[in-house]
Amino acid sequence: MIYNPQHRNKDRAARVSMALLRLAQAIKTINQEESAEFELSPVQIQALLFVQHTREDMATVGNFTKMIGSSHVTAVKVLNGLASKGLIRKIPNPADRRVTRLTLTNNGELAASKLDQWGNTLGQIVETLEEAQLEQLETGLGAIISSLNRQGRLVVAEPCLGCVHFRPHAAEGPSPHFCRLIQKYLTHEASLQECPEHTEAL
Ligand code: SF4
Repeated sequence: MIYNPQHRNKDRAARVSMALLRLAQAIKTINQEESAEFELSPVQIQALLFVQHTREDMATVGNFTKMIGSSHVTAVKVLNGLASKGLIRKIPNPADRRVTRLTLTNNGELAASKLDQWGNTLGQIVETLEEAQLEQLETGLGAIISSLNRQGRLVVAEPCLGCVHFRPHAAEGPSPHFCRLIQKYLTHEASLQECPEHTEAL
């Protein structure tokens, strides 16, 4: 029989895809168990973390919708649930009715500050891997995430560094960095916060 490396690669890719599907199912179950401890659903926790870590002007209903990859209606339902629990505030933009910003209330900040432990179960499992295994996993998963990101199937919120739109130290003064996408100067602190529009420079 003639050895064909392409077939071998295809077989391995099929096995890895199956492993990723199983992992996704297991992670979903773990997330549900952990979220129940906070009396929130996994997607409500994602929303709180999104508002907590995303730069103020980018923490919008639209960007949250993109991040969870759902319909606008589903995202609004999730956010309305958090608003009725008094954890987030929805702030319409009078200059653009399509944009609604999100902020945490005091109770929301308190709830978000307790979420450090969320995701710990998975972290503890990953920690048991050998360093070399972890390194390979990090590289492989990073490549899959980048590919999904490029295809528009996954939003990865990141700080400005490494973004194609970022022009660091473009000016003097308290807001030295410039974003070509939103045409705005940013403080150094703002550039360190997560932005869902981050587009990796190739
Ligand atoms: S430079 Fe990139 S990451 Fe920073 S605000 Fe602009 S789009 Fe977002």
